[in-house]
Amino acid sequence: AGIIITSAVILLLMSFLIWYLLHWVGKFRSIEQMKDDFTHNMTHELKTPVAVAYSAADSMLRYYDQSDEQRNKRLLTIIMQRLNFLSGMIENILSMSMERFKSMQLNIEKVRLRPLVEEVVGMIEMKAGKPAKIEIYIPENVEISTDSLHFGNVISNLLDNAVKYSGDAVEIKIYGDNNEISISDNGIGIPKGSLPYIFDKFYRVTDGDRYEVGGYGLGLYYVKQISEMQGWSISVISEENKGTTFTIKFNRDEKR
Ligand code: ADP
Repeated sequence: AGIIITSAVILLLMSFLIWYLLHWVGKFRSIEQMKDDFTHNMTHELKTPVAVAYSAADSMLRYYDQSDEQRNKRLLTIIMQRLNFLSGMIENILSMSMERFKSMQLNIEKVRLRPLVEEVVGMIEMKAGKPAKIEIYIPENVEISTDSLHFGNVISNLLDNAVKYSGDAVEIKIYGDNNEISISDNGIGIPKGSLPYIFDKFYRVTDGDRYEVGGYGLGLYYVKQISEMQGWSISVISEENKGTTFTIKFNRDEKR
């Protein structure tokens, strides 16, 4: 009986060791995988507009018809839009590099919170492509000290995610005062195991269908960097299939 028990214990220990190793290797590979995914997505996102702009220019040059003003305008608009998109992408990539963050100067000024949030919400609603009920609960008189351009991007990233990672009918609530701003959605939520990593550069949750949603895992990294540069803290509460709330607490010196 002693031999059986000893063998069982050894077997159990070995299974645990193998499980642990696989788990560890799995984690290690997923970082590699994350980088591959990033390169793949980025390449796709950059190549498509280049190809579209190229073929519009090509078609204009090959079959140039001065009299067809409408066609010329249409093709030029396509080229212009794609170039615009590409220049935005380049700007995003640059602003993600650490060097850029280190040397970046924020232009801090007093900003009225509500109109700024309203402006971003307007843009997100146009972009959403599905019904998005976004309610803003921020008193008119609230002012914070921040860089309006970057703060606008921060709110835009959080709202963009709230829309992206929610079902067909999105409901978002934005609360704000002099001390904090919070954005809650009724979306798919974030698995507990992923919560410690979501602000990491390139990190994306790989569970289920959510990976079908486009992205680079840079949005929240940017949000955190900009928040920390101003001495703010950012936290998240999330429950799967219920929703997610991100809260940014403005530091004492920054308020009012
Ligand atoms: P991405 O480009 O993948 O959206 P982010 O850095 O913005 O990158 O977010 C990192 C990950 O956190 C996302 O891939 C997503 O899985 C998760 N996430 C972020 N915001 C939300 C949200 N509001 N609801 C559910 N998941 C979210």
